[in-house]
Amino acid sequence: MSFREMVEGHTHGHMLPYDALEAMAKQGVSRAVSCAIVLMAQHAESYFDHFKVMKDFYRPLALAAGVNMYSALGIHPAGIPADWQRVVEVLPEFLAGEEVVAVGEIGINQDSQLEKDVFRAQLEVAKDRELPVIVHTPKQHREYIVDVMLDIASKAGIAGDRLIIDHAHTDIIGQINDYGAIPGLTIREQNLTPEQLVENLESFAGGILNSDFSNLFNNNPIGMLDAVDYMIARGVDPAIIASLARDKAVQVYGL
Ligand SMILES: [Zn+2]
Repeated sequence: MSFREMVEGHTHGHMLPYDALEAMAKQGVSRAVSCAIVLMAQHAESYFDHFKVMKDFYRPLALAAGVNMYSALGIHPAGIPADWQRVVEVLPEFLAGEEVVAVGEIGINQDSQLEKDVFRAQLEVAKDRELPVIVHTPKQHREYIVDVMLDIASKAGIAGDRLIIDHAHTDIIGQINDYGAIPGLTIREQNLTPEQLVENLESFAGGILNSDFSNLFNNNPIGMLDAVDYMIARGVDPAIIASLARDKAVQVYGL
């Protein structure tokens, strides 16, 4: 590695195995942003407990392994409880925590009215709290749903430099860059490969690398390092590598 102290821009800390935390620290990924997600949440309390355990259990655990783990909090579209408005009401109190650097992971999967309402309400909270937002993009109907989300973000007054559109690929990078938003670059086989990143580096250069680790499929908790190693091997400008792997995240999240 040609530089140290990288930042993992989007992971899920409560799913990371302990040895993955140690591997991150050992390889120089000394800071990370952990995004909230409660799959199939039925009750607002599921999110309240999740936010608490992220802060009071998994953050100290990560720190013990050598990773300073910040939080992004919000309702993920894969788990919208029936009483989601109660989460939105209390969200500002949780967001006031000093370890919280963003609202996330939020977004739209199915283009339902419920998802749009939950997304819009959380963008309004992010706008009030002057926090950046980490936005999930789905596997299907991507261009259409990104258009829907950018339209809602625009109406909510979210500036591009506060808006991270994650799991970016060549299909939606034009929309992201036109808005002036920040592409989240999830490095893995089913998202963006290191080769695809370097082939389209001009479009992706303003982005934030991440591994988006979860236990939902085959996954590499330090997948972002594959991109860093590949860029070094291909002789990419070290300033671009540093921006993708650290500096942009530091700036946007205010680390
Ligand atoms: Zn995620």
